[in-house]
Amino acid sequence: MEKKQLLYSGKAKSLYQTDDDHLLVAEFRDDTTAFDGEKKAQLENKGAVNHAISNYLMQKLEQAGVATHFVRSVSATESVVKKLKMLPVECVVRNIATGSLCRRLGVQDGLTLAPPMFEFFYKNDELHDPLINRDHAVHFGWATADQCDQMQTLSLKVNEILRGVFSDAGLVLVDAKYEFGLSGDELVLGDEISPDSCRIWDALTQESLDKDRFRQDMGEVIDKYQEVAVRLGIDLVVS
Ligand code: 5GP
Repeated sequence: MEKKQLLYSGKAKSLYQTDDDHLLVAEFRDDTTAFDGEKKAQLENKGAVNHAISNYLMQKLEQAGVATHFVRSVSATESVVKKLKMLPVECVVRNIATGSLCRRLGVQDGLTLAPPMFEFFYKNDELHDPLINRDHAVHFGWATADQCDQMQTLSLKVNEILRGVFSDAGLVLVDAKYEFGLSGDELVLGDEISPDSCRIWDALTQESLDKDRFRQDMGEVIDKYQEVAVRLGIDLVVS
């Protein structure tokens, strides 16, 4: 399979066409952004570490019966993925209250959310990815009612599976953002699942091992991402 021209360059990943109309190559770059791209940095090895973690978690989900876009890894930072028509909504599942939930509603940071809480956001940088409800998504044509139901059910299922995977590694999955796309009529999990898109805490110390380290200038960002990978038992190929 041949990698062809650049199709799309996002904030942390680039997508390339291939000679197969149904497949793309996703490249995980070292570029890191926060606050809708206002804060930017290059963090050495981030691409390789997130690529390895995301592929590992996508394969765990496939084994548990969740359809994902992952096909195969082709280098330390690149994978072949299914070409999806992405829906412009972000699905967030929270197990512990923190981040925008606490800022928005003034609820106590660190509160356990049982059962987990589900939220839709509209994927739009200019509007700062606002919180939306199911009616907004349906009325404005961002997803059908059935797709909204499926995304919620799938996100909660993914959360349960990944909570177990992280827990076995002495880690807590605090919250995460998932994105889905269509392959034909089938809803498939796309994008990435990594410390850039999840909050992950050490189970004993509650130390943050995710992008909050970058957002809040806590330092040792990639060291902690690597710690997540090592604890999950992933063999890392980094320079
Ligand atoms: P919050 O709504 O508290 O800012 O984020 C909830 C969870 O979703 C966090 O794990 C956060 O990293 C993730 N998340 C929310 N929006 C985005 C986004 O635009 N990009 C990425 N990579 N993750 C996001």
